[in-house]
Amino acid sequence: MEKRTMRVIEDAAEMRAEAAEMAARRVESGFVPTMGALHRGHISLMERSAGENDATVASIFVNPTQFMPGEDYESYPRTWDEDLEKAEKAGVDIVFHPSPEQMYPERSQTSVQVHLLTRGLCGMSRGQGHFRGVTTVVAKLFNLVRPTRAYFGQKDAQQAVVIQRMVIDLNFPVEIIVCPIVREKDGLALSSRNVNIPPECRERALALRKALLLGRGMIRGGERDAFRLSNAMQESILKDPEIEVDYLDIVSPETLEEVESVDDLSLMAGAIRIGGVRLIDNILVGPDGPWED
Ligand code: AMP
Repeated sequence: MEKRTMRVIEDAAEMRAEAAEMAARRVESGFVPTMGALHRGHISLMERSAGENDATVASIFVNPTQFMPGEDYESYPRTWDEDLEKAEKAGVDIVFHPSPEQMYPERSQTSVQVHLLTRGLCGMSRGQGHFRGVTTVVAKLFNLVRPTRAYFGQKDAQQAVVIQRMVIDLNFPVEIIVCPIVREKDGLALSSRNVNIPPECRERALALRKALLLGRGMIRGGERDAFRLSNAMQESILKDPEIEVDYLDIVSPETLEEVESVDDLSLMAGAIRIGGVRLIDNILVGPDGPWED
């Protein structure tokens, strides 16, 4: 069989031209936006895209506008050579790797903001500016790549809901596909930031996952009250004095508004800080489960 070669495109105009060419040939393309430091979570998105589309484009761009002042933009892991190997193996055809100057030329001043859905959860703890950065860059990437389908992880549950809203509100002709969370053997959600967890904190980084499982167990046992559930979950984490809870909320998976009682499928989502690293995780659960991931 002919060996496929993956292309790297760094120039925005070149990416646009390539997308136009694919559209003219009626090529259905899948798109996986990432910030690199690729792990099995990213790979699962790329493989799914490769299986469902004629061509797959992945972007690797550590987007400065979604990092708030004081966050980890500089220390965000960057592993370019390994990323290229992994992307190629996963079936990616084009890696789009623009510079910040390509994406944000001098005098650029336009942003996209999804309002209500970005108020709570990470929008509350990181600031709505974080999601403004995300939606702005994803809108720009959609315009450059013009994908048929775009793949996002349930790991960033709020992000997926926000992007879906943006696509509807701004009439982007793209189908959003949300893929399951990929975890380490012990249950820790894979994240590019995991490499920054100090080894002595690694085991305790599971506290959020354990709290979410505790909540799910309580729901299975008949507990419905969101206040009691989130209190019990927070308490279980705060037993470790070195972990900070950014938030731990139970919300509607559609509106992301807090629920008082778990009477329907609900999103239990949290963020903690341990050893200088911020980690997020979530579980979707209702009165009838699901009780397994
Ligand atoms: P990031 O590079 O962190 O911006 O993530 C790029 C995409 O990969 C986003 O859609 C994430 O939700 C997704 N992703 C990150 N971690 C995981 C994971 N553990 N499982 C599934 N998808 C993930």
